[in-house]
Amino acid sequence: MDHYDYIICGAGLAGLSLAERLTDDSFADKRILLIDRSAKDTNDRTWSFWAVPSFDRYSSIYRKSWERLAFYAPDVEVINDASPYRYHTISGLDFYKYTLEKIKACSHIDLIQDTINDITDRGDHVEITTDDHSYMGSYAFDSIVKSFPDEEELFVWQHFLGWEVKLKEGTWDDQIATFMDFRVDQGDDTRFVYVLPFDKTSALVEATVFSKDLWTEEQYNDMLTGYMAKYVGHTYEVVSVEQGKIPMTTAPFSKGSARVIPIGTNNATVKPSSGYAFMRIQNECEMLTERIKQGKVSKVTKSRRFIAYDRTLLNVLLTHKESAQRVFGLMFQRNTYGQNLKFLDEETSLWEETKIFWTLPFWSFLRAFLSENVFSNTKPETVSNP
Ligand SMILES: Cc1cc2nc3c(=O)[nH]c(=O)nc-3n(C[C@H](O)[C@H](O)[C@H](O)COP(=O)(O)OP(=O)(O)OC[C@H]3O[C@@H](n4cnc5c(N)ncnc54)[C@H](O)[C@@H]3O)c2cc1C
Repeated sequence: MDHYDYIICGAGLAGLSLAERLTDDSFADKRILLIDRSAKDTNDRTWSFWAVPSFDRYSSIYRKSWERLAFYAPDVEVINDASPYRYHTISGLDFYKYTLEKIKACSHIDLIQDTINDITDRGDHVEITTDDHSYMGSYAFDSIVKSFPDEEELFVWQHFLGWEVKLKEGTWDDQIATFMDFRVDQGDDTRFVYVLPFDKTSALVEATVFSKDLWTEEQYNDMLTGYMAKYVGHTYEVVSVEQGKIPMTTAPFSKGSARVIPIGTNNATVKPSSGYAFMRIQNECEMLTERIKQGKVSKVTKSRRFIAYDRTLLNVLLTHKESAQRVFGLMFQRNTYGQNLKFLDEETSLWEETKIFWTLPFWSFLRAFLSENVFSNTKPETVSNP
C-alpha cells in the first residue's frame, strides 16, 4: 500500500484550499495525496463572500468585486458602503482551475480521481479505500459528507436556483451588489433574492429559500420571473442556471478522530445561520496549515458563543417567532454593513454583539436563546474555541 503523510479526501473548496496551501516549499519533505471522484472541470457554483482588502489570496480570479451593498425589505432600502469589507465573487470553475494548476505542478502532491468508499482510523495510521485501491496515511483530512442531520435537529436547507441573465435593453448599476432582497412573497418560510451585477448588462439573480422542504425548478422560476418583472422590468435572456442546497444547522456532521480530521462542510464550517462558508473554510485551512507546520494536527473547532447565537436565530426563524425579513430588516437598518458583516464573521466582541442584539426583537430572541441553549435536550456537542 502507498503511504502518505497526509491524504486529503475530496477536492472541493476545503480540499483544494488546503492542498493549495500545502504546495508551499516548506512542505516539500511531505508526501500528500488529494483524491476526488470528480475531475472538477464544471462550473457547478459561484462563491460570494466579503473580505478585508488584506485578504488577496484569490484576487487574480475574482470575477467582480463591489464596495457597495444593497438590502431591501418591504419599506426598507439600505444602500451603503460595506467598508472595511469588499464583496467578491469567484466562479467555481476559475477556482478549480487556479488551485489545480498549482497542485498539479507540485511534485510532493499526488492527485487521483477515484471514489472513496471508506476512511478508517487504524490507531497508528489511516486507511482510505477507493474503488480501485487502498492508501495509507498518517492523517486524513476528510471533506466528504456521509449524511445530513435528521429532521429532529435544528436544521433547515438553504436552497436556491440562480439565473445568469443578459439584459437585452437597459442596464444594471454594476457598482452595487444586492445582498438580500426580501420584497418577494414569504409564504411560510424565508425567501429572498440576491443580485450580483457582473457588468452593465449581465448579472446573477438568485432565488434563495430557507425551508425544510426543497422546491421544484418551476417554483424557483416563478419567483425569479416575478422578481425580474417587478424590479428589473427590462427584457432579458437566461444564459446559464446554477442550483444548489446548503445545510444550515449546528448539529454535528462528522466527529472525526485523532487521525481523521473533518474539514469544510463535513466539519460544520458552513455558518449555520447564513450558509456562508467561503471565508470560514479559508480560515480553517489557514489554521490547519499552521498546525501541520507545527506537527500538531487536530480538527478546528467552533466558537461556543457563536453556536449559541446561530441556534437562537435558527429557532426564531423555524418556530416563526419573527419573520426573517423583519429580523434582517432591523439588523441592516440599525447597524452598518461593516458591523453586521463583522458579527457574521464571528469577529465581534461581546460588547459589539450586545449592541447588535439590542437592535433586534428582544423578547423573541431571549425566548429562543433560552429554549435552544438553556432548556434544550439537543444541545450541540461540546466544543471549545479554536
Ligand atoms: C451551488 C452552491 C453555491 C454556494 N455558494 C456559496 C457562496 O456564494 N458563498 C459561500 O460562502 N458559500 C457558498 N456555498 C457553500 C459552500 O461554500 C460550498 O458548499 C463549498 O463548496 C463547501 O466546500 P466543501 O469542500 O465542504 O464541499 P465541496 O466543495 O462540495 O467538496 C466536497 C468534494 O468531495 C468530493 N466527493 C464527495 N464524495 C466523494 C467520494 N465518495 N469520493 C471522492 N470524492 C468525493 C466531491 O466531488 C467534492 O469535490 C455554496 C454551495 C453550493 C452547493
